[in-house]
Amino acid sequence: MKNLTSSTQIVEAIQASGLKNGIVCLHSSLKSFGFLQGGADAILQAFIENGCTLVVPTFTYDCEVSTPSYRRIIQNGSDYSESFDSETAVAYDQNSPMISREMGAIPAWLLEMKARARGRHPLNSFAALGPLAEELIGAQSPLNVYGTLKAIYAHKSAAYLVLAGVNLTSATPIHFAEERAGRRLFRRWAKGIGMTLEVEVGSCSDGFNNLAPYVKNIETSIQVGQSVWKIYPFRTFIDTVARAIVQNPTVTHCADPKCIRCNDSVRGGPFL
Ligand SMILES: [Zn+2]
Repeated sequence: MKNLTSSTQIVEAIQASGLKNGIVCLHSSLKSFGFLQGGADAILQAFIENGCTLVVPTFTYDCEVSTPSYRRIIQNGSDYSESFDSETAVAYDQNSPMISREMGAIPAWLLEMKARARGRHPLNSFAALGPLAEELIGAQSPLNVYGTLKAIYAHKSAAYLVLAGVNLTSATPIHFAEERAGRRLFRRWAKGIGMTLEVEVGSCSDGFNNLAPYVKNIETSIQVGQSVWKIYPFRTFIDTVARAIVQNPTVTHCADPKCIRCNDSVRGGPFL
């Protein structure tokens, strides 16, 4: 059959690229696999059976509410004239499988797994499956959005960023590299169960493909059935990107010169 990816090809890719037993931060497009035998479940099972801890973004934008007028922070990447309808916002529940469609089918399927762990951040949660899931996910909190990524960075286990059929604009760890480069993260407000919370969030990621030349020589590109995977050693990726941002802060800026999030982020982020 044409346009087919088999689960065997995924297992072979995991083993051939040395991901076995490692921490894998996965950003993915299920569509990139063409017709995948076993669907999203085949991908999860392939990583889990190879001893990996799989970490994915499981963001929920429906939980955002307007910033209270007393908390309008300067240089916060916010257009405060825009408001969210707090009535229609959904309360975040980490035990539920709620997720924004943009996250894709693989994170959505991971949230259906009984053994998964999911972070306490109402807008930008991460979820994980595998031996280190609880430990890594437990490091995230509303005011430490990249706690999980910090825990991966600091962990003694081998760790990788895998972009399966997506490009650098999907790579959330770049926001963590921005933080390591000295940028303060924006603040937003979100609805939790029975309360409204101030939370940290990342900036605009539309310009992240500008970083491609900087990470080219730490990148392994492999064909997995129909899907092209780009694999980076996690810590080296973060350090390389953070260095590039320090040397050239505008490298992360998207193509829109008026982008308020990019402009405020390049200036260093909010005055907290
Ligand atoms: Zn932008």
